[in-house]
Amino acid sequence: MKIVAIDGPAGSGKGTIASILAKKLNLVNIDTGATYRCVALACLKNNLSLNNQDEIIKLSSEIDIKIDLNNKVYLNGEDVTDEIRSKEVTNIVSPISSIVEVRKNMVDLQRKMASNYDVVMEGRDITTVVFPNAQYKFYLDASLEERVKRRIKQNKEKGIDMSYDEVLENIKARDYNDSHKEVGSLTRTDDQIYIDSTNMTIEEVAHEFIKVIEGDNNES
Ligand code: C5P
Repeated sequence: MKIVAIDGPAGSGKGTIASILAKKLNLVNIDTGATYRCVALACLKNNLSLNNQDEIIKLSSEIDIKIDLNNKVYLNGEDVTDEIRSKEVTNIVSPISSIVEVRKNMVDLQRKMASNYDVVMEGRDITTVVFPNAQYKFYLDASLEERVKRRIKQNKEKGIDMSYDEVLENIKARDYNDSHKEVGSLTRTDDQIYIDSTNMTIEEVAHEFIKVIEGDNNES
């Protein structure tokens, strides 16, 4: 079983790179952020606020989350691929994913999703918690300014209306939250391959990944 694990902050390009690698290397692409986004969406649908920790934990253990081979995301059988990217979900997902028991439920689910497949899996704690023994461990980074620019472009393509300041504040808040979690914090370690994509094109970044995975270090 081949596992390519990619961690990095919001807007660093993990999703784009994971989908390119999945196609080029014939891997199943598992977006772990989507699992936390499903929990957040389920909370909204059930009118649970962040104070209802016990109910959120219970909900996270009861809901049915599926990601198919085309990256469509299903919550209790309903296609929520677009809904989980909404502003409302994006604003609450990070604190919800900080709840230790929610993380435990999602990590169990993510490991199950990966069993029996060669996978590329992206998130915040894949290289450290979910699959610390993955063959390939990457940390994909980019400057805050560049990540905000990318997210705004992506939002436009998806018809999500968020101002520059809203995106900036959301990414800053998630950066802080994602790197200050009790469990599963976004962390840089010595055994990750660090790639700063700030001044790179998508093709250049993908090329770097493929060079490492295919072990072809002589290619220009
Ligand atoms: O990757 P994405 O931005 O969709 O992830 C949404 C949120 O889910 C992140 O801001 C982070 O708080 C959380 N997350 C996490 N661990 C992961 C993936 C995502 O805590 N492995």
